[in-house]
Amino acid sequence: MNFPIYLDNNATTPCDQRVVDTMLPYFTQNFGNAASRNHSFGWVAEEAVDYAREQVARLIGADPKEIIFTSGATEADNLGLKGVFEMYASKGNHIITTTIEHKAIIDTCKHLEKLGAEVTYLKVDGEGLINLEELEKAITPKTILISIMYANNEIGTINPIRDISAIARKHGVLLMSDATQAVGKIPVNVNKDGIDLMAFSGHKMYGPKGVGALYVRRKGPRVKVTAQMDGGGHERGMRSGTLNVPGIVGLGKACEICMNEMEAESQRLIKLRTKLESGLLKLEESYLNGHKDHRLPHVANISFKYVEGEGLLMGINKNIALSSGSACTSASLEPSYVLKELGLGDELAHSSLRFGLSRFTTEEEIDYTINAVSETVIKLREMSPLWEMFKDGVDLTKIEWAGH
Ligand SMILES: *Cc1c(COP(=O)(O)O)cnc(C)c1O
Repeated sequence: MNFPIYLDNNATTPCDQRVVDTMLPYFTQNFGNAASRNHSFGWVAEEAVDYAREQVARLIGADPKEIIFTSGATEADNLGLKGVFEMYASKGNHIITTTIEHKAIIDTCKHLEKLGAEVTYLKVDGEGLINLEELEKAITPKTILISIMYANNEIGTINPIRDISAIARKHGVLLMSDATQAVGKIPVNVNKDGIDLMAFSGHKMYGPKGVGALYVRRKGPRVKVTAQMDGGGHERGMRSGTLNVPGIVGLGKACEICMNEMEAESQRLIKLRTKLESGLLKLEESYLNGHKDHRLPHVANISFKYVEGEGLLMGINKNIALSSGSACTSASLEPSYVLKELGLGDELAHSSLRFGLSRFTTEEEIDYTINAVSETVIKLREMSPLWEMFKDGVDLTKIEWAGH
């Protein structure tokens, strides 16, 4: 086994060696600018980009012309939201999203609110799902866009995207989805799913960092977004800037590999994750966060009550790389807003770990992780006065703490 074990694959995945090998010639021999029309360097680069565009489109059931390459999902989310807001300003200014979207969606919506947008942030239930009736009720004649993530990056809950798109269609509202965690991991098909705009990223699916895409529907309905980057008119005018040819080639290859291996790989991941979960949920007072079934195959978010997630991480992070349910913002430890929206109290949110498995995760690593985390949880609880009180049958919710 190689240490440290990497189980933070929702933050980023390693690049597959097959992807790297495919990219390499495009840094050196085939370094042309895909927009150079006058010589073979340009033609070779353009051909490679065209091929990658087909590989990407195939994975999501799109037409290659509907793929706009970007620098990643953050840019794609920005382009989708801001581009629709500008393009459809004469129709309305209302956007519907959820409270547990990635910051790339939430903060862009906050920005648009300053520019006159009205945004509805739908609440989610304890498993991370929105209420479809509430979604439909939130639609007004001014609604131009519904933006709901395909699957959540912290808890893995998969949204019923086809039910959501049926509602959007019925009311003639565009549907965008941040599918960064879903694409390449589970079957995503923009036509069957009824998605009009979709963001995703190379580095979450064993491709390179700094490259991603926005899918923009061209037929039924034809969707347009106002460019947020002006310049040479690349990507059908929607995203100017010299194309990142090696990155795009890598994204294409990453999509092709995911397409070929997804089915077998997701079965393998579910087996490993089931092992991990049944091992860790044997611990007293440990709880799975997110939806038990409607969940990405590589994600398990678990709270270990009466244990502080950061302390837990410190106990194991020499050997295992993981994220906790606390986000380090401006030096203070804030509990994850996603877990809080699920209704977890601060203590349970703080006591959570997010396990993100990958194509490269082995059973040996999972066995090691179950043991290491279990031992650390038990050890920390032995030192915890709260755990002692809990064991003595004290109802901790009834205690009035001094200093609050
Ligand atoms: C990682 C992630 C992003 C941001 O993607 P980048 O390519 O790193 O900009 C956006 N949304 C979700 C759901 C993510 O997991």
